[in-house]
Amino acid sequence: MAAYEQMSNEELLTLKQDLEARFQEVKRKGYKLDMSRGKPSAAQLDLAMKMMDVLNSETDLKCKEGIDCRNYGVLDGIKEAKELLADMTEVPAENIIIFGNSSLNIMFDTISRCMTHGVLGSTPWCKLDKVKFLCPVPGYDRHFAITEYFGIEMINVPMTVEGPDMDMVERLVREDESVKGIWCVPKYSNPQGITYSDETVRRFARLQPAAPDFRIFWDNAYGIHHLYEDKQDNLIEILMECERAGNPDMVFKFCSTSKVSFPGSGVAAIAASKANLAEIKRYMTIQTIGHDKLNQLRHVRFFKDIHGMVEHMKKHADILRPKFEAVLQGLETELGGLEIGSWIKPRGGYFISFDAMEGCAKAIVAKAKEAGLVMTDAGATYPYGKDPKDSNIRIAPSYPTQEELSIATDIFVLSVKLVSIDKILADRRA
Ligand code: PMP
Repeated sequence: MAAYEQMSNEELLTLKQDLEARFQEVKRKGYKLDMSRGKPSAAQLDLAMKMMDVLNSETDLKCKEGIDCRNYGVLDGIKEAKELLADMTEVPAENIIIFGNSSLNIMFDTISRCMTHGVLGSTPWCKLDKVKFLCPVPGYDRHFAITEYFGIEMINVPMTVEGPDMDMVERLVREDESVKGIWCVPKYSNPQGITYSDETVRRFARLQPAAPDFRIFWDNAYGIHHLYEDKQDNLIEILMECERAGNPDMVFKFCSTSKVSFPGSGVAAIAASKANLAEIKRYMTIQTIGHDKLNQLRHVRFFKDIHGMVEHMKKHADILRPKFEAVLQGLETELGGLEIGSWIKPRGGYFISFDAMEGCAKAIVAKAKEAGLVMTDAGATYPYGKDPKDSNIRIAPSYPTQEELSIATDIFVLSVKLVSIDKILADRRA
């Protein structure tokens, strides 16, 4: 198929008629499909069902250190849970604190604490005239929602295939003292599936921020979420790299088992320097007497150690891989060569990021919805929900069944084609 731009108006109109007829046919079927959120499917959740059996009324509920996990106590997590999550996120166990079930919750708390209490003795951010965050784009909507909620001004930093544009990051943090942080999803990023290159991580660790309380918010949500056994991305461990570079306190690293065990009932953690952890513990002491230790115990007894977890992730990959491949194949077969969209083939994570022709994303998402397919709102991958080019669409292939996915992909590519034809014809008229 020729690129749409190469086709005459007549050819495009004829093609449009044919595509519109196919679209109406699909629409009549009254499908209800959802490719909007990165949720594991029921089949993936079933993989960890046996976790429900590892604790019962007969079980010894004392952790390794002899503490009764049913009772109050242990602010920062039981030892074996720290060891498991530390291995998962590649840091020493002494650099980690276990929280509740959600890493997003820890990120919210962290920003909240910086706002009200500052960082290691700095002025609370809420007392400053201006607080800014750098936001690599496209990125994760819930990160942007947190910073927006606290009135932090967000600055877009374009992503490259190696991670955020580091020239821009270095310049902004060096020149502007009001830049206090940056959101990063360094491995199999949401939504592009990009892993930061070695050089990018090294440059992060060597940033020279004007603000001493600048922090990198390193959300390693997809650290072990590979799709392939033989093609895996590697990420330099940031905490160690920051220490090596003489910036030990510059990073907060987050992780959770949300997409390892259960998103509703996983275990989440923060990793940071000793100084940062001490400050976090000071506020935790006020916040809680301790998080859910039975759930920590359940996770450790189920996975046993990092090897158990890695084996478990292979089962997730076996379910996810065909889904990603079905969508990618659909995009390639139907849109390859048409020059109306581009996408990246990820090796892990939960998303495929699609870039439509400029000014088309909102219309594509709306068109797909007409035929019963819900996509993530166009714009959601940008701060304030504003994609300046109205181009990026996040595709989440994990939740639908294989059969639903193939229909969903058909609807999506039909929508892309129809909207792109309209756009080309409108541009030519203009
Ligand atoms: N970070 C990223 C990048 C995510 O994609 C998600 C889930 N979509 C989360 C955090 C949420 O993590 P949790 O369930 O641990 O709160």
